[in-house]
Amino acid sequence: MTADRMLSPEEARTTILRHIKVLGPERLSLFDADGRVLAVDILAHRDNPPYDNSAMDGYAVRHSDVVQANASAPVALTVIEDIPAGKVPEKQVGPSQASRIMTGAPVPAGADTIVPVEDTRGEGSNIEVLEVEDVGEHIRFAGEDMRAGRPVLTAGTQCGPGELAVLAAVQQSFVSVFRRPRIAILSTGDELVEIEETPGEGQVVNSNTSALAAFCHAHGAEPIMLPIAKDDQTAIRATIESALMADFVVSSGGVSVGKYDFVKKVLDDLGAETIFWRVAMKPGKPLVFCTVDGLPYFGLPGNPVSSMMSFLQFVRPAIRKASGYPETDWPLPEAQAKIEHPADNDGGRRQYMRATLSYRDGHLFARTAKSQGSHMISSMIGANGFVVLEPNQQAATGDVVSVQIVGPIF
Ligand code: AMP
Ligand code: MG
Repeated sequence: MTADRMLSPEEARTTILRHIKVLGPERLSLFDADGRVLAVDILAHRDNPPYDNSAMDGYAVRHSDVVQANASAPVALTVIEDIPAGKVPEKQVGPSQASRIMTGAPVPAGADTIVPVEDTRGEGSNIEVLEVEDVGEHIRFAGEDMRAGRPVLTAGTQCGPGELAVLAAVQQSFVSVFRRPRIAILSTGDELVEIEETPGEGQVVNSNTSALAAFCHAHGAEPIMLPIAKDDQTAIRATIESALMADFVVSSGGVSVGKYDFVKKVLDDLGAETIFWRVAMKPGKPLVFCTVDGLPYFGLPGNPVSSMMSFLQFVRPAIRKASGYPETDWPLPEAQAKIEHPADNDGGRRQYMRATLSYRDGHLFARTAKSQGSHMISSMIGANGFVVLEPNQQAATGDVVSVQIVGPIF
């Protein structure tokens, strides 16, 4: 281990990101592309709307015929055709004529305005127009939404329901999106048992693998959950070697200075290039970042909250970069919030405090969890944000502090 300096969280993140490559594209069916990032620009193959069409059920008219119409002096028109949606108009609208038209149907030649049925009287082939708005009113013009040949979505856009609607409209039944990183997750510790095992004396249940796998899902990666590795070099080495088929490896535990913290040693033996192994933050000071044959390896601390915190600060940005998100989307989103109680960071490292963020009266508020111990798994329940306090920062009730947003805010 050579890289001895303790990095700031920003330095650590930028350093990690320098080692992360954007993964290649894969083609997915439209529906499977939900939540994924486009790898190519998408052009509209035809105009949308594809033709001028009516925005209302009503009558297609010549504006000049009815411009004077009002309730006391209605204008009579002869209806020459019915145009339901899906029908191609056959007749041209001439002077004092109208075509009955439904929403979405093509506007017939000769007509330049739609009069909604509510602004008319009568039915059959004789109707009266009671009022009219401007010329062109209630017509949806060809190409006003999307223009044939022009880009409608650009590479780097995350697909959600709205983007899928656009992709469907331009008939992209398969789309090219960035691959999601496959992340091998392994927990180390002699004391750990799997969740279905009965813990004996001195044993604790492995909660990190589940938490880290869920974070992978939430932030756009595919977790591969490996079995627990005992605190012995052979076991850790075998498990790490089995993990090297992934895009990244994330382990928890065994990276501190304890006598049985073997992860760094095993990585050295595997010829890993250690980039750094400490970050000036709390929780989460020990964090090994290295590359094993070019493969990024994150050795997170074992304490449950520390491992989750380090994942969100460092693995999430790596996932986002690898899967094609724009740079602004790599770190957790940040905001300013009023803190609801005094809080201070009397240590020398930046502190990330689990918090509940809420909106009230147009303001964002933050309330930190009572216990910030890094073993307090339950303090993560409902934590939709972190309050970020710099070394020696003191915040009084109502002070504005920086927060990171982790989940939906209600
Ligand atoms: P370590 O980083 O290996 O020294 O572990 C620090 C603390 O985190 C110890 O109390 C461990 O028992 C606990 N711990 C480590 N790994 C896990 C895990 N996978 N699930 C729950 N607790 C863990
Ligand atoms: Mg351990």
